[in-house]
Amino acid sequence: GNTFALVVADATTPASLATLADRILASFREPLEYGTQGLVVGVSLGLALAPGDADGAEELLDKASQALRKAKADGGSRCVFYNKELHNRFARRILLENGLRRAIQERRMTLHYQPLVNPETNRVQAVEALLRWPTGKGTFVPPADFLPVAEETGLMIPLGEWVFQEACAQAARWASGPVGPLPVSVNLSGTELRHGQPLRTIREALASSGLSPELLVVEICENALLEEREAAESLFRELRALGVKVFIDDFGTGYSSLAYLRDFSLDGLKVDKSFVTRLPQDSRDLALVSAILEMARALGLETVVEGIETPEQRQAVQGVGYTCIQGFLYSRPQAPLQLEALLKAKNF
Ligand code: C2E
Ligand code: MG
Ligand code: MG
Repeated sequence: GNTFALVVADATTPASLATLADRILASFREPLEYGTQGLVVGVSLGLALAPGDADGAEELLDKASQALRKAKADGGSRCVFYNKELHNRFARRILLENGLRRAIQERRMTLHYQPLVNPETNRVQAVEALLRWPTGKGTFVPPADFLPVAEETGLMIPLGEWVFQEACAQAARWASGPVGPLPVSVNLSGTELRHGQPLRTIREALASSGLSPELLVVEICENALLEEREAAESLFRELRALGVKVFIDDFGTGYSSLAYLRDFSLDGLKVDKSFVTRLPQDSRDLALVSAILEMARALGLETVVEGIETPEQRQAVQGVGYTCIQGFLYSRPQAPLQLEALLKAKNF
């Protein structure tokens, strides 16, 4: 009849099954050629796993059929896992993945920029570029939701390349306009370090935008360093040889290793906001922040304290020798035009 059973014998994880199911659904979204006509065929999928959902073949087929009935009952053209918990996990993931793919294709991803402020002069020293996925209703899907999906699906590589292109182009426009030279920080994830070609990406972004390398800062979070130590070490050296600055992001949250402060070619550290949240009350956090800043200063590294939201928090870290503050106290991440208006209005 019109029901088919597919046995996927080499599925390693439920996630890989979800991806496969999604590809099957996607391949039926285009009309099929039938004579001179295009035929649209609706497809629903029911997924069951063994072991887990079933022990034998018959039970497995039965559970898959139950899931299929549910998929049809829910409106069809979809995939349903027999296991409810898996279903909830992957339904959301598939929705996110498809949405993200489309947003990238349709060039709807944007960058917002958050000021890094020198607390002594109260002036903006630099900005950090942060990815934003607009929902179309004036809100944004947070990076914490879509970045893991982008990393798992390989979308992070083209997305990351676009981020470097766009941030460099924006910084170049600022440099040659009324805003003037404003260094831009761009985040590089572990996935980009491992599977991408970050040096080539960054070189190309600099070349096509004409941005001076001194106006680009690359932030790599501490965890990525541990996993990709050698790749990171050589990338840092090459970036700094180009004139690009390199910062460690979210410092203090991974397995902070003093060895890489000694061995790596670096320009600075960003102290993670988790150390700031409980300031000024928490004396341990304060001791840690002070110690990190003191150590960085002794090593000749620049520092940024992230996540300052209140004057009390700024007060608590004031005078400990940091270079910059980044936080909602000064400004949230802003679209380029809003940022320009802010720079003008506050004489930042
Ligand atoms: P991050 O690089 O550590 O960026 C700082 C994050 O802290 C941003 O979150 C920013 O909005 C938030 N933040 C800044 N000040 C405050 C504050 O005062 N209070 C609080 N509660 N939060 C503050 P966002 O934009 O959600 O980004 C989250 C993470 O996603 C980033 O952390 C970064 O690791 C990653 N990310 C964002 N954009 C990109 C990108 O273009 N490429 C890559 N590879 N990763 C990105
Ligand atoms: Mg960052
Ligand atoms: Mg950070």
